[in-house]
Amino acid sequence: MSKRNIAIVVVVLVVVVLVVAGISITFLSSNLQGLIFKSKPTIIDTNKFRDISSISQKNLDAIKKVQRATTYCNRKNFKIGFILLYENKDQLTNERLDILKNMKNDLSQSFLYATKNLATMDTLDDIYLMPMENSWYFEDDDGKDIFFHLISKKFYETHYDIYDFLVLARTFDLNNVSETKANAYLLFSKNDISGIGIDIFDNDEKYGSKGKLLGSVVLNKDIKKYIIPPGEEIPSLILLHEIGHRWCCNVGDTFQNEANNAKLEIKTLANHFYPGLESGHEIATPMGGAHWVSNGDGTFKMVVSKEGIKPKYHDFFLYFMGLLPKSEYSKKFPIYAFGWETNNWNETKATLYKEISVDDIIAVEGNRQCN
Ligand SMILES: [Zn+2]
Repeated sequence: MSKRNIAIVVVVLVVVVLVVAGISITFLSSNLQGLIFKSKPTIIDTNKFRDISSISQKNLDAIKKVQRATTYCNRKNFKIGFILLYENKDQLTNERLDILKNMKNDLSQSFLYATKNLATMDTLDDIYLMPMENSWYFEDDDGKDIFFHLISKKFYETHYDIYDFLVLARTFDLNNVSETKANAYLLFSKNDISGIGIDIFDNDEKYGSKGKLLGSVVLNKDIKKYIIPPGEEIPSLILLHEIGHRWCCNVGDTFQNEANNAKLEIKTLANHFYPGLESGHEIATPMGGAHWVSNGDGTFKMVVSKEGIKPKYHDFFLYFMGLLPKSEYSKKFPIYAFGWETNNWNETKATLYKEISVDDIIAVEGNRQCN
């Protein structure tokens, strides 16, 4: 959207909302900041937390009227909303809020860097504190779980449909088997891109969005586990990773040393890049793929992290997002064989296996296209 169009939308929204409902300026400015600053990534934080129960029904009705439906697959400017779920207010400790705030504040800068300045992530909105409702829980063989779509539905009763992503963090346990295993995950809402290995579908309505939402990142209760050790400080790394699953890494085959006639062995199971795929940067990418340096004897060793170096997404990833310039499509990336899956991985003695480019991906998967 051009700056002029953004300005028009902002003016229209302000007029409509003020006339219809007279919503407080605080509320308006907070929600419209995202539109105003859409093309200017920033890490400004308002340091305020708002409880959604303070918004009146009259205002909610007005908000619904100005919700907009948008659908387009070549987005470059994204907006993310943070929701912290609680069962009682004692669970909202300063420590937890600070970790989440830190993650949020870091994201816009880290996302800009990771996408090589080709995309932005607006994180300006406050963290929304949301009390859990009994009807949102369910129980199955694995234990207690949550209907996460009901949470985002509730969120959209009080918020514009302007978020590409939501983060659902929480303060309580679920005792769910898969939950305790999963570090965090992305709940997909829709995919309108072919050629990236993901089926075309649209569940936005189920999640309460009218067409904008791409997915929700569900975080584990144990938020401390996402803190990165000092020196490698990238507080938003878990978000770079989970948001990344919206585009990655579904294309290609699991690396198996040419088994099953595989052509694009750039993946491991669970849709991440095979670590043997050269990242093209000094360290690993947020979605897998590492940096490989020569041992001087024809073998290579893996570098995953380095003090002071932040991760960048892989060029293949930028292609899946629709951001990579066509001039880069022919660039070859080496794949170093160091074992497949976690069986017999040898990170210090890999050998060059083959080279793959975006052109090779297109030859197998077809062109990336919007649907
Ligand atoms: Zn993952």
